Amino acid sequence: MRDPIINVKNHCPMTPRLPKAGETIHGSKFFIGFGGKGANQCIQAARLGAKTAMVCKVGQDSFGNDYKENFRKNNVSTDFVAQTEAAATGAASIIVNSEGQNAIVIVSGANLLLDSDDLAKAAAAIGAAKVMVCQLEILPDISLEALKVARARGVKTIFNPAPAIASLDPQFFSYSDIFCCNETEAEILSGVPVGGSADAGKAGLVLLGRGCRTVIVTLGGEGCVIVSQEEPTPRHIPSRKVTAVDTTGAGDSFVGALAFYIAHHPHLNMEEMVKRSNYIASVSVQAAGTQASYPSRKDLPQDLF
Ligand code: ATP
Repeated sequence: MRDPIINVKNHCPMTPRLPKAGETIHGSKFFIGFGGKGANQCIQAARLGAKTAMVCKVGQDSFGNDYKENFRKNNVSTDFVAQTEAAATGAASIIVNSEGQNAIVIVSGANLLLDSDDLAKAAAAIGAAKVMVCQLEILPDISLEALKVARARGVKTIFNPAPAIASLDPQFFSYSDIFCCNETEAEILSGVPVGGSADAGKAGLVLLGRGCRTVIVTLGGEGCVIVSQEEPTPRHIPSRKVTAVDTTGAGDSFVGALAFYIAHHPHLNMEEMVKRSNYIASVSVQAAGTQASYPSRKDLPQDLF
């Protein structure tokens, strides 16, 4: 599986309240974690046993170096992780107050410098992959170009339109084998208010009508809804009931797991792949953190493999 992506390093100071403009306050805890949707998805797929590579750009800085090291530790190839001096590694600063509210600043940095030349270097590797996953944390035109590179080489594409943009180029639909979004993204893109599985089915049908082969709308603890060209009647695939501790990054765990199943268990039908992906994402919500909460193959029931 090959995976073009953003890298964001998250800095999280915890404070009693969010500071006002010009104010300095003391916080109680500070930590730095690895994030970025594509990176998370890639690492979840790798932990399940997929051979993965990232196509992305980081800065020629300590964060960029740490970022690459984190991929290596997770068995993700960094052959196509470019480093640039022209911008810093993408980063997100997330201030969390004692009530759990947050204020976030994202600086995309080097992610926005991933360009057609970088894609061209990765084209042969993309062509040799079973599946490629794209998101919207790099320039949308580059994500679309990556989808075209994969499609031209017969590689399955998963597109995760996150973070959502209202004016998505319509070509994204036709170049997505699987268009996988959450409720908010489904609502923004389809114009259908989504408040449950029935609405998700309606939104999914609108998106399907724009040309993708399969649409999956994830619904948090409710699992997800699938519609496809072959089976256009929406099917709700519930998730199992668990006690959620931290749902951050559950969507990325789901997408990474789905990519793993498409690459390694292509004989399974989509409903079964989605059931298993729900299971894996439900494990991730039972532990704190994003990548830290993603399960590895050895920690999961072996009948998932
Ligand atoms: P995030 O932006 O935090 O990564 P998301 O909004 O993209 O998440 P969700 O729809 O919240 O994604 O969740 C994705 C999948 O994770 C769900 O389809 C489900 O399989 C699983 N999941 C999420 N929350 C829960 C929960 N509370 N209990 C069980 N499974 C969950």
